[in-house]
Amino acid sequence: MENYYETLHVPVFCELSEIKTGYQFLIKKLHPDKNIPNTTDFKQNRENEKYFHQVQTAWKILSDKQLKKDYDTLLKRTKLENELLVNEEISLSDMDIITDDAKDMEYIYPCRCGTEYILDKKYLEMDLTNIILTCETCSLHIKVVMKQES
Ligand SMILES: [Zn+2]
Repeated sequence: MENYYETLHVPVFCELSEIKTGYQFLIKKLHPDKNIPNTTDFKQNRENEKYFHQVQTAWKILSDKQLKKDYDTLLKRTKLENELLVNEEISLSDMDIITDDAKDMEYIYPCRCGTEYILDKKYLEMDLTNIILTCETCSLHIKVVMKQES
C-alpha cells in the first residue's frame, strides 16, 4: 500500500511546505469542479474521483502537526521492520567467543555467506534485551537475544 507521501508525490517525511505544494498541485489537477469528467471513460472518471479522495485524506493527516508526527513514527517503524528482515534469531549462548590477546573479546556467529556476524563486547555492557546484527559482507541480519525473558 502506498503511503500518504506517495499519494501526494512528495518526498517521505518532508516538511509541511513541500506537502502543501504537492497537495495544491494535485487538487488543482483533480478537483471535480475544474476537472470536466470525461463521459466516455467512466472507469477513468471513477479512478480520478477515488484518487481525489485519497489526496484529501493524505492532506488531512499530513497537514496536522500531531497526526503527521504520529503517522511518521508509524511509518518509520514499519519501514525499519521491513528493511531489517531478520534472517535468524539466536541467543547469545549460540555464539562463539573469541579472544585476541591484546584485543577485546568478541562474540561471533557464522553467516550463510561464509563470513560471520560480530558482536562487540561493548554491547554486552548496554543491558540490551536483544540486538540486531548486520553481516558486513552480505547485509543479512540476525537477532541476538541477549537476555532470556523470565
Ligand atoms: Zn553474510
